[in-house]
Amino acid sequence: MILPDPLPLVLEEAPDESLSSWLNRHAEFYGIAPSALSHRVGIGRLAFAGLDHRLNESEARTLASAMRRSPTSISNMTHLQHQDRLMAMIGRGGEPVHACSECRQRNRRDNQATATMKSWSHGWRITCPLCGSRLQDVDGGKAYPPADAFEHLWDEAWRGEELIANIDLLPADRAALGAVAFVAFASVARPHGYPTANRARQSA
Ligand SMILES: [Zn+2]
Repeated sequence: MILPDPLPLVLEEAPDESLSSWLNRHAEFYGIAPSALSHRVGIGRLAFAGLDHRLNESEARTLASAMRRSPTSISNMTHLQHQDRLMAMIGRGGEPVHACSECRQRNRRDNQATATMKSWSHGWRITCPLCGSRLQDVDGGKAYPPADAFEHLWDEAWRGEELIANIDLLPADRAALGAVAFVAFASVARPHGYPTANRARQSA
């Protein structure tokens, strides 16, 4: 297997940044199309969004060589660790379903304004895993402040989020009960609808 040469300059990844976001920022930085960068880093994909959900070992090794990282750190930028029980709750298509306004501000300060966090595609999240702020819903590229009409359910929702975030550590029956309870909450508390993997991104 011939590995690609490392890129001359590799940008620092933002905390919790998705692999596709990081690669797209490199395409912007070098002023080339994502498909051209993909060719340069040896993986031959037209778009990077799919890599967040499906990355094989050979692609991880190839990217590790081009991007000056280890295959493990490349793999950690994907959703692969959640693919087992939570796959259906991870947004697809490259458009985030949430955003954290605090982290967006920090990213802008750090010259990483277009960085997209992995957790922004995690449908079960209601708080930011980095700073603890309440996430905003994103629909059609617009962010909406969290609804306050369901404040009385907040503690319960927060416990549900924790349960789901640790779902891989739970026995299957408890995990299923927790997921059902949380989805029931989320579907009433989100005025813009509950994001799922199949949600249509009409304005994408
Ligand atoms: Zn945050």
